[in-house]
Amino acid sequence: MSTSQYDIVVIGSGPAGATTARVAAEQGLRALLVDKRQELGAPVQCSGAVSRHALEEVGIQPADEFIHEAIYGFGIYDQDGSETIIDYRQLKPDEYGQGANKKPLGYVVDRRRFDRCLMTMAERAGVEVWLKTEGLGYVVNSSGSCTVQLRHFNKEISVEAKVLVGADGLQSQVGKWAGLHTHIKLTELASCLQFVVDQVETDGLLEIITGHEWAPGGYAWVFPKGYGYAEIGLGVIRTMTKENAQWHLDQFIQHSFFKTRFKNSRILEIQGGGVPLAAPLRTQYSDNLILVGDAARHVNPITGGGIHTALSGGRIAGQFLAKLIREGVAPTKENLAGYQEQWLEELGNKMWQLYKEKCQIFKTKNLKRRDAMLYQTMSSYFSPHSEYKKI
Ligand SMILES: Cc1cc2nc3c(=O)[nH]c(=O)nc-3n(C[C@H](O)[C@H](O)[C@H](O)COP(=O)(O)OP(=O)(O)OC[C@H]3O[C@@H](n4cnc5c(N)ncnc54)[C@H](O)[C@@H]3O)c2cc1C
Repeated sequence: MSTSQYDIVVIGSGPAGATTARVAAEQGLRALLVDKRQELGAPVQCSGAVSRHALEEVGIQPADEFIHEAIYGFGIYDQDGSETIIDYRQLKPDEYGQGANKKPLGYVVDRRRFDRCLMTMAERAGVEVWLKTEGLGYVVNSSGSCTVQLRHFNKEISVEAKVLVGADGLQSQVGKWAGLHTHIKLTELASCLQFVVDQVETDGLLEIITGHEWAPGGYAWVFPKGYGYAEIGLGVIRTMTKENAQWHLDQFIQHSFFKTRFKNSRILEIQGGGVPLAAPLRTQYSDNLILVGDAARHVNPITGGGIHTALSGGRIAGQFLAKLIREGVAPTKENLAGYQEQWLEELGNKMWQLYKEKCQIFKTKNLKRRDAMLYQTMSSYFSPHSEYKKI
């Protein structure tokens, strides 16, 4: 057993954890960032769509290193194929597009390279990074710090920190260690599957297909992935269907209004995972501990997007902890409550609003009406006038 001392220890080097650690280190904290994986972002469990604004907000330069393809807008479809196209190349041709002085709206990123890049940024900001290191538990000490137990390769070690940050994703254990209520209802967990395919044409748009016939409780998508590749995927709520996501994806590919477009597609990779379409955790902190990203359910409950909210949440967490620790404030539950307050003010209150909208849609019994509501909500969510544009 050896013990080292840090201001913060961050468990999980996804977008939330790597950003929390980097921002805290940039502001002078001594940070340790650990991840149980030996290769970050692998196996891929994400489609990688993220807005340019989300990257800029946390100081990430869009780079070829991790970008699969640039995005210029959205195509939203109802289940019969009626469409709302929101293409910024047409809406604002002077601003959006390819070429000099024009920009994309967002990107589809390669999560392996993206996560590695975020970790490298953290490391260059002074964060100590340990891969193949699993968080096992933590205890609060009478001195006001906490001891975090880790398995580093095959060796169990302990480190001491003022604050432990749980950024350990959807299946977070860190919150459980502190007795936080992290349970996720099956009715709010989307089961997602996507195929990376060849031979499906795309045109710089994120395409979203709503309707209970293709994806009960969620939606299907076709995202461009660069070099002629695409992602075809969907998420379903298992309590709303007898079939699994694979069955629904096969149906979508073979029978939807896109079937001709998909007819030559060849599957190159199969990826999947869970997405919480749930409310943010009501309590995201405890003594010497905060949660961020998927671990705190910082996920858009309508789109299921969690990269932007993980990055923003990481920025808020890093800034908050840097101030708290610099000012010598004790990291008690009462004092860490300020993190959640700040997060609610900047981001969380809007996410609660979105959650209420989502509940409104899915409590509608009439399926036709429900489908129409989801199509309408998605179309207005992605419109240039949306109040949620920056989430
Ligand atoms: C199929 C699918 C498609 C998606 N597509 C999109 C999309 O297009 N756009 C979008 O915005 N969002 C998308 N999401 C959601 C997005 O992937 C997540 O919201 C985002 O990754 C959350 O980031 P995070 O940092 O909170 O957690 P994660 O990215 O899950 O990172 C958590 C990290 O913690 C590590 N970890 C876990 N437990 C421990 C432990 N005990 N010790 C050490 N390390 C640990 C893991 O190895 C992992 O690296 C998708 C999700 C799925 C499943």
